[in-house]
Amino acid sequence: MEASQIKYIVIHCTAGWTNAAGVQNYFTRPKSKGGRGWRTGGYHRIIEPDGTIKEMYPFSRVTNGVAGYNTECIHISYVGGVNYEQYKKGKYIAEDTRTSAQKVAIESCIIEAINWLQENGKDIYQDLMVLGHRDFSDDKDGSGVIESWERIKECPCFDAIPEYEFYNSNNGKKEVLPSNR
Ligand SMILES: [Zn+2]
Repeated sequence: MEASQIKYIVIHCTAGWTNAAGVQNYFTRPKSKGGRGWRTGGYHRIIEPDGTIKEMYPFSRVTNGVAGYNTECIHISYVGGVNYEQYKKGKYIAEDTRTSAQKVAIESCIIEAINWLQENGKDIYQDLMVLGHRDFSDDKDGSGVIESWERIKECPCFDAIPEYEFYNSNNGKKEVLPSNR
């Protein structure tokens, strides 16, 4: 995809505790074997709990993250986002489980993405926003329009807009949410 098309750097959680390779395997494994059967998996970067950044796809490739918007998005996800003890019992309870190493790594990925955008012709001072997956949802308290494979509609389980507003194209002023949701 073209850097100039990109409007959103979207932060996700994996909503589980499987490592990056396992998450991607689930996306690309055939449906007959319990996976999603996608030709291209999800997210450009996945960040392990210890802060290790796993490069899943180059930013130039369209990956899965927000249905209907993927050609305008760079997707960054951290492993976690659900309570670990409950997860072991098969329950998915949304929780901001980011480690300090993951917080640093998420920000590194945002900077990496912005640098890539700029190097590839995107005007980073126009029409660029860092936000959470859930910010695309008009239904923050209801039935949920977020893809079921993440299991939770709270993704990424923290409020990404104020946390990363420094990186928005308007340099910290409140950015207008995507209007074409
Ligand atoms: Zn998500």
